[in-house]
Amino acid sequence: MTWQATILTLFPEMFPGPLGLSLAGKALREQRWAVDAMDIRGFATDRYRTVDDTPFGGGAGMVMRPDVLDAACAAAQARNPGAPLVYLTPRGRLLDQALVRELSTGPGVVLLCGRYEGVDQRVIEARGMLEVSAGDFVLSGGEPAALLLLDACVRLLPGVMGGVASGAEESHGAEGLLEYPHYTRPAEWQARRVPDVLLSGHHAEVARWRRAEAEAATRMRRPDLWDKHLRNELARPARLDGHPAAA
Ligand code: SAM
Repeated sequence: MTWQATILTLFPEMFPGPLGLSLAGKALREQRWAVDAMDIRGFATDRYRTVDDTPFGGGAGMVMRPDVLDAACAAAQARNPGAPLVYLTPRGRLLDQALVRELSTGPGVVLLCGRYEGVDQRVIEARGMLEVSAGDFVLSGGEPAALLLLDACVRLLPGVMGGVASGAEESHGAEGLLEYPHYTRPAEWQARRVPDVLLSGHHAEVARWRRAEAEAATRMRRPDLWDKHLRNELARPARLDGHPAAA
């Protein structure tokens, strides 16, 4: 079945945008996923097609109206039944590979892209939206965050990555480690040599080196991920030799 992305946006022309190219674009043409961008303005009820209003309590900027968004969400969910409704917002839980994996194994996703100061809280609660953030920064709209989330999900759909590894060894894979560094030809460039072990042809040694590099990078660059990795290792059932069991 085709993984369906339904986007609620004031700028439907932004989709598929860059996702019409490369890996995601090929998968789109092969109908491994589909994208349907719906214009929120089409659900406005006045002649000016108004979607926003001033915030109660005062303050700068405008807020997207709950009645307009509710009608838009109802239509999007009817087109994409069973898909979770995600509101992209800097107030949401941080997008990570675990959530990407979860979303990519479902039927698809309905994404609400905010603009202005954001969305009236009541429609977020009434519709039970999952609030997801692309990172600890503020974008001018949810569309770039939607593109980012879709790119991450689409590459995990069956058949999309083809010969490329399934993602198990990538950064943020099953082990929760960053990936080891990569090298290609030439073997020496600007007096910098590729590590000898990678030229040795010794697969077990290469695997050991890569594992050590992945652990070192995670420990140094992302102590938060390293702590989590260690906690997961400890939580694994012990093998008879006393070491944690392999995944
Ligand atoms: N006033 C909001 C706040 O401080 O939390 C920011 C509003 S932002 C200018 C407009 C829209 O961009 C938001 O409604 C949201 O949809 C989107 N957006 C901004 N930053 C985002 C992020 N880090 N992740 C996901 N969406 C984001």
